Amino acid sequence: MMDLLTRPRPPCPACASTDVLPILYGLPKAGVKGSMLAPSPDDEVALGGCRVAPDAPAWKCRACRHGFGTLAERSPGLFTE
Ligand SMILES: [Zn+2]
Repeated sequence: MMDLLTRPRPPCPACASTDVLPILYGLPKAGVKGSMLAPSPDDEVALGGCRVAPDAPAWKCRACRHGFGTLAERSPGLFTE
């Protein structure tokens, strides 16, 4: 999970900004509470809610708010058949 914060992020296809956040889905509350993400999650990640689907956007542009990419593309191991 934490590797999402350090791995290379694709630039926004809409505005070419590199100010892109990984969108996290289905985070268990226990995993967030007390972690370093808790104080200001918006600074490092975007929260996508509980819906986890292979075609859900994986990245969010902080400049234009465009969501792009897919979870299946970002994390192929998440959706093995
Ligand atoms: Zn953008």
